[in-house]
Amino acid sequence: MTLLKSWVSSANTANHPFPLNNLPYGVFSVGDDDPRCGVAIGDMILDVQAAQEAGIIGFGDIFDVPYWNDLMEMGPTAWTTFRARLTEILAEGSKDQADAEPFLVAQADATLHMPLAVSEYTDFYAGAQHARNMGAILRGSPDLPANWLHIPVGYNGRASSVVISGTDIRRPNGQMKAPDAEVPSFGPSKRLDIELEMGAIVGTGCDMGQPITVDQADEMIFGYVLLNDWSARDIQGWEYQPLGPFQGKAFGTSISPWIVTAEALEPFRAPTPEREKELLPYLDGTKDGLYDIELEVLMQPEGADKPTSLAKTNYSRMYYSAAEQLCHHAVGGCGMSSGDLLGSGTISGPTPDEYGSLMEKSWAGREPFTLDTGETRGFIEDGDTLTLRGAARGDGYTIGFGDCTGTILPALKFPV
Ligand code: CA
Repeated sequence: MTLLKSWVSSANTANHPFPLNNLPYGVFSVGDDDPRCGVAIGDMILDVQAAQEAGIIGFGDIFDVPYWNDLMEMGPTAWTTFRARLTEILAEGSKDQADAEPFLVAQADATLHMPLAVSEYTDFYAGAQHARNMGAILRGSPDLPANWLHIPVGYNGRASSVVISGTDIRRPNGQMKAPDAEVPSFGPSKRLDIELEMGAIVGTGCDMGQPITVDQADEMIFGYVLLNDWSARDIQGWEYQPLGPFQGKAFGTSISPWIVTAEALEPFRAPTPEREKELLPYLDGTKDGLYDIELEVLMQPEGADKPTSLAKTNYSRMYYSAAEQLCHHAVGGCGMSSGDLLGSGTISGPTPDEYGSLMEKSWAGREPFTLDTGETRGFIEDGDTLTLRGAARGDGYTIGFGDCTGTILPALKFPV
């Protein structure tokens, strides 16, 4: 596929993240107005709620709420119909141009909000390099756990602390115990980290007790966002046995502001890597389940005028696809909801410049790295801003996600 041209001229360049090929869904407000659904096109947002109310889209009255869940619940046929109509309205030479133009808002004037109501959040551990690195750091061996090549390992996370990009994240307090300490202590995490992930958004759910195939799961996924699974490694390290992550993962998960549809990503499908062990048949699917999406992690200390690039990798580095994860999630009887968010797991490539967490980049703080400002880091310090970026690059066009960013605030003193 090549660049599709729009009458919104800023959308017609090879490197713009929001060409007509993309049309990602967000929620925005201007001034004191209530948040509403909009679609990004070039430097602008088409106010979908107002355009629908004015009779321009002609799709149904589902946009009187500030989230995209109602469209998500309608299923893939409706997703395609709606997207095709938006494409028609915004295409170069469209007969709808004059009618739609009054409903464009400059992104520069808009504040972005959560694009969906997140019903549930599950986080996986599906990057082989990340899992091997964590094994080497924590257990002294890069060998994968015995189940890892057979199961998309995951845990049930918290939807309550999933926030939109730009939301400050408070350094958590928690219980931890250093390896050489006799007793645990309570206080601010000293090993605050990020995890570079993709978030898959479940559009249509399935009933409790109703297994789904990988191919069915693929069709249930509405779109993708960038996801930063903020992690307190010292809290996590003390609490995680035997039931897995808890407080060390529950204080904040940031997502990028625009839902990039699975349809926009269709030309970028990429295969999962060759299986080191054959998967059980229920995890077989017929489609390539990953996507060729370039990813980058950046860190900007307080007062610095620009960020330092820490890592560049690709979503296609993962071992398990979101569809395989969703199938595995539901196959044992767990109902899945529209608005379910699935974190991919940390995405790391084979070399240190592709590591998607600071734990790996600094090897648990043992090998601090240097920022462009000359400062060194093992983990995140107060005032640091961490940013994730993603882009799929087609023939003369780019599918962008919008930055997924967050700044760390100092821990609250507790008990006061
Ligand atoms: Ca994670």
